[in-house]
Amino acid sequence: MRPISDLTEAELIAWLVARGEPRYRAAQLRRHMARGASSFESLTDIPQELRRTLAAELRWSSVEPVAEAASADGETRKVLLRLADGKSIESVLMPHHGERNAVCISTQAGCAMGCAFCATGEMGLQRNLTAGEIVDQVRHWQAALSASGERVSHVVYMGMGEPLHNYEPTVASLRMLADRTLFGISPRRITVSTCGVVNRMDALAAEGLPINLAVSLHGPSDGVRGEIMPINRKWGVEELLAACARYVARTKRRITLEYVLLAGVNDAEPQATELAALVARHGRLADFHVNLIPVNAGPGGFRRPKAERMERFAAALEEAGLAATLRISKGQDILAGCGQLKVEQR
Ligand code: SF4
Repeated sequence: MRPISDLTEAELIAWLVARGEPRYRAAQLRRHMARGASSFESLTDIPQELRRTLAAELRWSSVEPVAEAASADGETRKVLLRLADGKSIESVLMPHHGERNAVCISTQAGCAMGCAFCATGEMGLQRNLTAGEIVDQVRHWQAALSASGERVSHVVYMGMGEPLHNYEPTVASLRMLADRTLFGISPRRITVSTCGVVNRMDALAAEGLPINLAVSLHGPSDGVRGEIMPINRKWGVEELLAACARYVARTKRRITLEYVLLAGVNDAEPQATELAALVARHGRLADFHVNLIPVNAGPGGFRRPKAERMERFAAALEEAGLAATLRISKGQDILAGCGQLKVEQR
């Protein structure tokens, strides 16, 4: 059975019309989908007969929650979701002092990219998710939040998988999230993170979606980056930064460079200077922002640098004219921090 989230608006209308139902039911159903209703049965403004037919022929969601964990401070929540074929993915809710509810979603079960510090990379790629499976993670959290009258306000594509390695479903899901008749989340509140799939970055720039792009750099040179990110063998740092510059030129959006700090690998002050010089060779420093992420416990045996060393690295970037923020990622006690998502697949 297909999940309703995998039907486009036109397909849903055709499905309804084929069963003698009015077209406007499609808008009603889509509104319920995005607002956190829990089942076809709960849609009391839809005639009972139609609800029965819907439940018999379509699935309300493509993801089924199996287990949930909350961090000790109760803020970050991680859910294990089972897909129809038994594969599992993880998704994280990161509320921020009642001001916003950010959701971190997966685009693949596992990941093929093999970054050395990443638990998801250790799994290898199980399969790509459909657009419905991607947005159903947002629907899962929206349903959880709707009880308290809250909404998912921000979405980050930083969960399991490389979004641009599953390009079409990722773009389709972005359009669904931004669609005002569905979720209506401003593209400026949506961030896609890539490890640097250069050809797809160019394609994304041409989609006309004013989303935020985060690029995982993690090293200032091919020598360092190539050691920890296999994708660097295909597209080196110069090619990657050139693609970033093209993205900025086309979209007029700033790019976030993600940089995980690994003690003794990429955290020396001269490497900060090298990083700023790399960016400057390709674009204006003002068009970039560096997110410094102390590594979380995970594969590769990497260690987090001492706080003062991380602060010196951040200061060196700032001195070179590159804005930087040192971030402590949330949810580490439930393995929901950056690079920590992993599930055992059957
Ligand atoms: S960091 Fe991202 S791209 Fe790299 S292996 Fe992990 S999930 Fe894949």
